[in-house]
Amino acid sequence: MSFDYDLFVIGGGSGGVRAARVAAAEGAKVALAEEYRMGGTCVIRGCVPKKLMVFASTYRDSFADARAYGWDVEDGTFDWAGFRGHLHTELDRLEQVYRGLLKGSDVRIFDTRARLKDPHTVVLNSGEEVTAKHILVATGGRPSAPDLPNAHLGMSSNEIFLMDKMPKSILIVGGGYIACEFACILNGLGVEVTQYYRGAQILRGFDDEARGLIAEMMREKGINLHLGTNVLSMRAADTEDLAAATFTGSDAAMGAAVGDTIDRPATTDHDGPIWTKATNGTEKVFDAVLFATGRTPNTEDLGLEAAGVTVGRRGEISVDDYSQTNIPSVYAIGDVTNRVQLTPVAIREGMAFVETVFKGNPTKPDHDLIPSAIFTQPEMGTVGLSEEDARDQEPVEVYCTSFRPMQTAFAGRTDRVLMKLVVSRETRKVLGCHIVAPQAGEMIQLAGVAIKMGATKEDFDRVCAVHPTISEELVTMKTPVRTA
Ligand code: NDP
Repeated sequence: MSFDYDLFVIGGGSGGVRAARVAAAEGAKVALAEEYRMGGTCVIRGCVPKKLMVFASTYRDSFADARAYGWDVEDGTFDWAGFRGHLHTELDRLEQVYRGLLKGSDVRIFDTRARLKDPHTVVLNSGEEVTAKHILVATGGRPSAPDLPNAHLGMSSNEIFLMDKMPKSILIVGGGYIACEFACILNGLGVEVTQYYRGAQILRGFDDEARGLIAEMMREKGINLHLGTNVLSMRAADTEDLAAATFTGSDAAMGAAVGDTIDRPATTDHDGPIWTKATNGTEKVFDAVLFATGRTPNTEDLGLEAAGVTVGRRGEISVDDYSQTNIPSVYAIGDVTNRVQLTPVAIREGMAFVETVFKGNPTKPDHDLIPSAIFTQPEMGTVGLSEEDARDQEPVEVYCTSFRPMQTAFAGRTDRVLMKLVVSRETRKVLGCHIVAPQAGEMIQLAGVAIKMGATKEDFDRVCAVHPTISEELVTMKTPVRTA
């Protein structure tokens, strides 16, 4: 049977684009359909704009630090509209880079939605049918909000990059990566941030000591973090709510008085302040609400049922170790499979798919010991097991130190960092490394190489310290703080 293409990729995010390019480089005839903007979540409404906002938000502390270091500088004010314009110019540029890479690889681009019709056919929005020997679904995921009346009044991380105005106050719901990162970003940009997390401590699943320090630092920097708390109800605030509301923090500082109209970004269909009631009974009015309550795989209206592709309980495409679905010609990679929701993982799944299908070298993507960073302030970098998971598995030694780093201590800041190694007592291997510090993401990438190679604590110790740095503590911790 002959097909129009060897490979048809649905979704132009990081994973789909990489798989398309690498397959084309192997001589395959490839097409890719994307309904929105090339680059996907990471480039257009995730990692990239988020990181640029992180950079923007860290300047506020820098003004005070600069003065401590002898510079004669005044605190500046943040121009959201100016920054947002620059941000979107950069995203447009990156989108063109992605397009250029695909075109340069001779991948045919369809700027439209595509759905499966059967195991070898996709239908484009125009009604055109295209056949392919292999179909790769790389449609990613989207933010999900709690099932709460009026939840549509809140924003998701998609809208935050498009806000017309910076809100003066915001309620962030959730305690994961996105909630904590945006709590720090918006706090840094001068927004009064309140965060509700339903559990006992933010960043569930990460090392307890590390997430404890992040929570402490977030509070110290002014974030009103409420644990064991969730939104019970919300609605558009009326005049009585506004009259009863007490404006504190930056609202007061910015001159808002009781009854003032609060500006709200016009990114949802609601254009005014939002009244909320929390599970602890607190009633409060916020300029904006951000739901950062997890993401859902994009599997709706994709024709998966028509093609006979099995979808799991959470809406994810079920795949085997080689990213193959129950239909042999259909594969899926990235967030739509709900394995590990990280860009570099989707890219590696795409590469492994090409290796398997187009290079005749069956390759499983490796999901073990994936380093990752949470871009809170300070950042957390982590690889391997938390102390809690490691000690459930085997006897461990824990090496840990926490201190005020030189650079910010000199400037009079109370910021603390944490460096931690969890070590197997039997094999001496480092099972987990957790860093809370400025640039922890940069550090954990390198620590990840050693740990992936199976480094022992003694291997770390054999490395000479780079002095004076924060990361030198990783090779100078001599005595375990505890064994478990
Ligand atoms: P996460 O799964 O990390 O966090 C979701 C949070 O929302 C959890 O705290 C969860 O609570 C809470 N939650 C879920 N449902 C509800 C509800 N109904 N009411 C109240 N709270 C709720 O998702 P994110 O949206 O933060 O991020 C999605 C993924 O994107 C991450 O898992 C990560 O893989 C990726 N990402 C990675 C980044 C990075 O590498 N730096 C940055 C941003 C995202 P509970 O803990 O109780 O379940």
